[in-house]
Amino acid sequence: MSVGRNDPCPCGSGEKYKKCCMLKDDVARSVASAADAVKRKAEKEADEKAEKAEKAEAERKAAAGEGTGGRPHAGRAPAPPATAHSKSSARASSAAPIRKRTV
Ligand SMILES: [Zn+2]
Repeated sequence: MSVGRNDPCPCGSGEKYKKCCMLKDDVARSVASAADAVKRKAEKEADEKAEKAEKAEAERKAAAGEGTGGRPHAGRAPAPPATAHSKSSARASSAAPIRKRTV
């Protein structure tokens, strides 16, 4: 027994198959490949970010003359005031993903 596109979906949702599980099957497939692509991209970006951070750190150390001066770390990367309310709504900002872009 096969389910027609316009038959009620066997999952019992009351939707037509083509509007329900057939669509989900389709979406699942495309989402899977999309998720894969996103994952790969994220991994690549993380890699590049780490590399960049390492480089920046080394440059910072060199610029600060670490090893010669007696100045301890004055804290890494002083956080720039992103928004005027970032202080009053610290909770909200900590919940939201912070994306820094240095281009
Ligand atoms: Zn269904």
